[in-house]
Formats: sequence, structure tokens, C-alpha cells
Amino acid sequence: MTASVVWLAPSAKSFSCLCETCLDAARDGGLAFADAVRGASVRGTVDADSSVSFARCAAGHELVLRRVERPAPLTHADERQLQLQ
Ligand SMILES: [Zn+2]
Repeated sequence: MTASVVWLAPSAKSFSCLCETCLDAARDGGLAFADAVRGASVRGTVDADSSVSFARCAAGHELVLRRVERPAPLTHADERQLQLQ
């Protein structure tokens, strides 16, 4: 089983996500969706300087928190791309 990967915004200092393993288990067990979401919810804080950190859901599944690289700003080097034919 591989750990779920959660992508964080470049400036994120906290996260809130759902453990997919728990969601799958709840679905297999026939839980109502609201109960499944409640059981799979994971929240926490992350070091603003770290690009990767780890968290565990209430059931102990590992979640990998990866920070998205800040995308390069779009340039207008080629304005022809904006023209509609
Ligand atoms: Zn879990």
C-alpha cells in the first residue's frame, strides 16, 4: 500500500484533507458518506519551510504532504497564442 499524497499550496502552513485509505475502507464497509468523511478527515500544521512532511490519520495511515512548486509566472512572450482564429 502506498501512502496518499496531499499537495499543499506554496504558502500553506496548515492542511485539511481526507485519508483516501479510510474513505475506501468506509465505502467498502457501507458507511454513509458523511460518516466516512468525518472518519477520514485529517488536519494539522506544516512547517512553512519544509517541502515534504508527513502526517497520520486517526487510523494510522501515512499521508505524505508535498508542497507544490510555485509555478513560473505566465509571460506574454508570444501574444499570438491569445488570438482566436
Ligand atoms: Zn486513514
